[in-house]
Amino acid sequence: MTAAGHLSILYRGPLSSCDYDCAYCPFAKRRDDPDRLRADRAALERFTTWVAEQDHPISVLFTPWGEGLVRSWYREAMIGLSRLGHVRTVAIQTNLSCRTGWLAEADLGSLALWCTYHPSQVAYDRFLAKCRELDRLGVRHSVGIVGHPDHLDPARRLRADLPEPTYLWVNAEEGRSYTDAEAAEWTAIDPLFGYSRRPHLSAGLPCRTGETVISVNGDGTVRRCHFIPTELGNLYDGSFREALRPRPCPAAACDCHIGYVHLEPLGLYDVFAGGILERVPVRPADFPGSGLLLGTVVGLGDAEGPGDPFPRP
Ligand code: SF4
Ligand code: SF4
Repeated sequence: MTAAGHLSILYRGPLSSCDYDCAYCPFAKRRDDPDRLRADRAALERFTTWVAEQDHPISVLFTPWGEGLVRSWYREAMIGLSRLGHVRTVAIQTNLSCRTGWLAEADLGSLALWCTYHPSQVAYDRFLAKCRELDRLGVRHSVGIVGHPDHLDPARRLRADLPEPTYLWVNAEEGRSYTDAEAAEWTAIDPLFGYSRRPHLSAGLPCRTGETVISVNGDGTVRRCHFIPTELGNLYDGSFREALRPRPCPAAACDCHIGYVHLEPLGLYDVFAGGILERVPVRPADFPGSGLLLGTVVGLGDAEGPGDPFPRP
């Protein structure tokens, strides 16, 4: 770990169900039976208890297979972890279908949301109203959309309606390749779309996962990231700690933001300083899209030398 001992944890428990029905998702409208829901709740409570017992700074991103915030235990976990002094950030990927009243109980200095807009699943005005509610409450958040051609107009509309400081990210759709003209259209909405457009050739490159970032599942199995199956140990017996060290990526490519944001040569800890897990960049409006379209990422990391990328306000 770093000198400060900060550890970022991507947590994914047994939950694999969602209230939405997106055509591009394997978890669409899946239901978990009561046993699985009970197991998910117990696993999450065990995890939050472990985090509370640690004596070093921690940041957490919940990356459920499905939607977590419709379950009370994810809302409670977000609230509880946000209030812990050593938790720098607690964030979750969400479709924002839940109500927002629970957020009043959280410490908004550390809580953040990674929100995704699914145009086929929710009325535009309803989603926009939720985003405005987050602004009114002072909840740090990013908003994003999958770069499917049918989403181009809704994405443009959303970009126009969201406050300028709110980052609207665009994820390249899995399996889709984009012509330069198409990529330019998406880059006009998300200046950082160039990072998502193509998988990053990561083999042998230094990646912070397995050193200061880990992936944890419901039974506490620790891996370096969600994409590499090799186990590093277990969270709950502490066996993972001796495995933490700098290590190159063993995969050919990394195509998901929650992975490649930690790939050191990309310099994304500077671009997203203070908002790495929730995908909130330092200055979303200032990044040059044209260079990114060409894959020219060198230099973005030079911005302002932001220091601690995981500050606690
Ligand atoms: S909201 Fe997310 S998890 Fe749910 S079906 Fe859509 S893509 Fe899948
Ligand atoms: S680059 Fe991506 S796939 Fe490779 S170790 Fe890092 S997060 Fe995992």
